[in-house]
Amino acid sequence: MNQTNIRLPSVDRLLRRAGSLVAEHGRAFVTACIRAELAASREGARGGLPAPDEAGLLAAVATRAARLARPSLRAVFNLTGTVLHTNLGRAPLADEALALMAEAARAPCALEYDLDSGRRGDRDDLIVPLLREVMGGDAPPDCAATVVNNNAAAVLLVLNSLALGRQVIVSRGELIEIGGAFRIPDVMRRAQARLVEVGTTNRTHASDYAEAIGPKTALLMKVHTSNYTITGFTHSVGEAEAAAIAHARGLPLLVDLGSGTLADLSVYGLPREPMPQRALAAGADLVTFSGDKLLGGPQAGIVVGRRALIERIKKNPLKRALRAGKTTLAALEATLRLYRDPDSLARRLPALRLLARRTGDIQAAAERLAPALRAAVLDFATVDGEACQSQIGSGALPDGRIASAALVLRPRKRSGRALQRLESALRRLPTPVIGHVRDDALWLDLRCLEEKDEARFAGQLAGLRDLLREEGAP
Ligand SMILES: *Cc1c(COP(=O)(O)O)cnc(C)c1O
Repeated sequence: MNQTNIRLPSVDRLLRRAGSLVAEHGRAFVTACIRAELAASREGARGGLPAPDEAGLLAAVATRAARLARPSLRAVFNLTGTVLHTNLGRAPLADEALALMAEAARAPCALEYDLDSGRRGDRDDLIVPLLREVMGGDAPPDCAATVVNNNAAAVLLVLNSLALGRQVIVSRGELIEIGGAFRIPDVMRRAQARLVEVGTTNRTHASDYAEAIGPKTALLMKVHTSNYTITGFTHSVGEAEAAAIAHARGLPLLVDLGSGTLADLSVYGLPREPMPQRALAAGADLVTFSGDKLLGGPQAGIVVGRRALIERIKKNPLKRALRAGKTTLAALEATLRLYRDPDSLARRLPALRLLARRTGDIQAAAERLAPALRAAVLDFATVDGEACQSQIGSGALPDGRIASAALVLRPRKRSGRALQRLESALRRLPTPVIGHVRDDALWLDLRCLEEKDEARFAGQLAGLRDLLREEGAP
C-alpha cells in the first residue's frame, strides 16, 4: 500500500497557538493532546479522510482536552424512578452534611481527640450520643455503636467478631443476595463463621431455631429480606420471638436490617420501614444498617446494640481495616443531627424530601418541562406526560411503589436502535440524563428532578438536538 504523506503542523507550532489551553491545562497535558490529535489525523488520512487544517486541529485538541479534563465521577440526573439507586450513588446528602464534610476534609479536625480532656478520643464517639438521642426511649440504656465503611462490612465484622469458628443460625427464607455480590452464605464463610440453615424457603418456625441451637452456636441472625417478598403459604419468626429463643440459651440475636430508617416514614405519608430502635426494643442485641439507604446519609455501615458486644467488635483488628473515614463520619454526624427535628426533616434531608414529594408537584413539573423536551426531540420522538410509579430502591420495600409522573419519549421510528440512540444522546448531555426503558419507550420519572434544578435540566436540552443528529437520527 502506498503510504499517504499528509502535511500537518508541528507539535511546537500548535503548542504556540494553544496558549489559553496551556494556561488552563498545563503544557505537558496539552502536548499529549496535540500528539494524540495529530496521530488521529494521520490515521484518518490513511483511511482516506482529508487532512484537517490548523484551526480544525486546534479545535479538536481543545475538545479532546475538555473531555479528558472532565471528572469521571460526574453528577447525573437520576430520572430512573429508583430514588436510592445504588449505581447512581444512593442518597444525595443534605447541605448540612456537605458543609461538615468539607470542613473535616479541609483542616485538621478532632477525629480521635477528646477536646475536653485533651486525650486521645474514639471516632465512634462522634456519633454515638446523637444516635442514642435520635433513637429515643426505644433504644436500651446501655446502647453503643460503631461505624464502618458500609453495611456489608458491618455484617462481616459482627460475624467475624462474635462467631469466629462457630455457628450462626439463619432461616432459609432469609439467605439473601444483594446486588453486587453480597450473599449471606458467602459473607458467613469469609467471616469464618459456620452457617446453619433452618426452616424452608417459605416457612420457618420457632422450633426450627430452638432445635438447631447447640454447644457450637454463637448467635441467631435475622436478615431483613429487603429486595424480595415471599408471599402465599408463609411463616417466619419475628424479632421478639427469635430474641426470646436466643436469650433463653444465653445467645445474642443479630438483625441485619439493610435499609434501616431512624424516622417513622408513615408520618411522611410513606410506607413503614423497619427501624433499628424498634428491633432493639423487640430484643435484638445488635442491629446493622446502611448509612446511605433510607437514613439519607453517606455510605457507611452502622452497628448498634449492647455495649459489651460492641466492645468486643471494636477489639477485632478487622474493625481497623473497615473503619469509616473522617468525611464519612462528618456527613453521618450532620445527617443524624437533622433527625432531631422531625418537622424539618422532610425539607432538609434530600432522600426523604424526594420520597415524600407530592405527586401533584411532580405532575406540574412534567407539564412545565414537556415543551422544551418536545422541541428538542421533535423530529425524532413524541413526548407525553404520564403517570408512573417510583420505587424507593436499595432494598427498601421491594413491592412498595410511590405514585409519580414521567415524561415518556417514544421514537417515531419504532425500533430498538432508535430507543438506544435516544438514551445515548441523553447520556451525552453535559449533565447526563438517565431514564429507564419500559414498553418500547424511555421513561423519565421526574420525582428526583427538584424545582431548583429544572432550569439546569431544561437549559441543556437545546444541545440534545445536535447529539441526536450525531447519533444518526432520525
Ligand atoms: C443493602 C443491604 C446490605 C448491604 O449494605 P451495603 O451498605 O450496600 O453494604 C446488607 N444487608 C441487607 C439486608 C441490605 O439490604
